[in-house]
Amino acid sequence: MSILLKNATYIDWKTLEFSQKNIFVEEDKSEIKFIDNIDKIANNQNVDVLDCTGKYVTKSFGVGHHHVYSALSRGMGAPKKSPENFYEILQYVWWTLDKCLDLEMIESSALVTAIACAKAGSTFVIDHHASPFAVKGSLETIAKAFDKVGVSHLLCYEISDRDGVKIAKEGLSETEEYLKNRQGLVGLHASFTVGDDTLEQAVNLMNTYNSGIHIHVAEDNYDQEFCMKKYGKRIIPRLNEFGVLKSPKTILGHCLHLDEDEKDIIRNSPCWVVQNSESNLNNNVGYFNGEFLGKNIMLGTDGMHSDMLQSAKSAFFVGQGFDIINYPSAYERFRNVHRYISENRFNGDGDNNLVVLDYNTPTDFNQNNFLGHFIFGLNSNHVCDVISNGKLIVRNRQITTVNEAEILKISRERASKLWKKMQG
Ligand SMILES: [Zn+2]
Repeated sequence: MSILLKNATYIDWKTLEFSQKNIFVEEDKSEIKFIDNIDKIANNQNVDVLDCTGKYVTKSFGVGHHHVYSALSRGMGAPKKSPENFYEILQYVWWTLDKCLDLEMIESSALVTAIACAKAGSTFVIDHHASPFAVKGSLETIAKAFDKVGVSHLLCYEISDRDGVKIAKEGLSETEEYLKNRQGLVGLHASFTVGDDTLEQAVNLMNTYNSGIHIHVAEDNYDQEFCMKKYGKRIIPRLNEFGVLKSPKTILGHCLHLDEDEKDIIRNSPCWVVQNSESNLNNNVGYFNGEFLGKNIMLGTDGMHSDMLQSAKSAFFVGQGFDIINYPSAYERFRNVHRYISENRFNGDGDNNLVVLDYNTPTDFNQNNFLGHFIFGLNSNHVCDVISNGKLIVRNRQITTVNEAEILKISRERASKLWKKMQG
């Protein structure tokens, strides 16, 4: 069914120009049309008409780095040992959790994540998944769940040697099977858990399927120390020697502990950096600084939540002490995910991806002060309706494509099962 957003205030996401528009959106047609005389269309029974009087319509959002696998961790008990550093956080929290995931838990994790992303205005998600004892079929399970909700995706499995060669091989096979049928990336956990053999095979896959690598880089200084000790070089030179940074599809997560040479290499490469400020605060690993990293910086949530407006605010506020970020660059990083997707010709982020914001502000809101509202006013509570690939997937703050209550009920049961398994 086509959609007519009538009487909207349309905000062009690139120029920030405000204009009064009737917007006609057709499913699977990536272009949208602006219509002056709506009478004929508004009376067509096959057109869903949304009155957007007093509301703002703009391009929907995208998540540059997410972790579906962590969705069922919210509210879980404390780990067996209280982690004292980054490695112990992985060991006692995330690697304990991911080993217990089965395909049903992954399905629930993906459904609740897709719903949360959609309700917060994101219609495209780049995810980095791990489930070492349920590798096979995990990516297709996530893809199907996202498709059901109606959120576009770019998935990968985080291949790693941390659970042994057999599981690393399973990660490589899962990636290859997935890339045969779907758009995706070749995921690697991080330099410190990926040996040279696995790294080489992952880059071979990247080249065979014309894909990119999605990897955590220098999230904690431990990653650098390990690399120096084991390979006698720093992380970026190591990855670069294998060809990881050659692809414009490659995404380097975090990039907190890099020296000037490493920043030069990244800046002079076509690859991308994804920033996740709240996760860095939570893990107490340091602060992101985009200076000397070039223009290809986007934002993610790192599985902390699914709210990109919040990620942008955090990047801006945390960055005041540590980063060169300002209003325009905060917005640019927030929107760069669209440039990453379009320059690499991935599907699912055309102009027929829109968000309707019910934003009643006590001050004037216009092209000249949009960025002030972006940082201090707009938040995901204002996301009212969401159109993904021309389909209305959120209407009046409710998901239209799936039964959210039922999905949450099942996910709570599966989360309890997961938590019990983690205690065992
Ligand atoms: Zn991550």
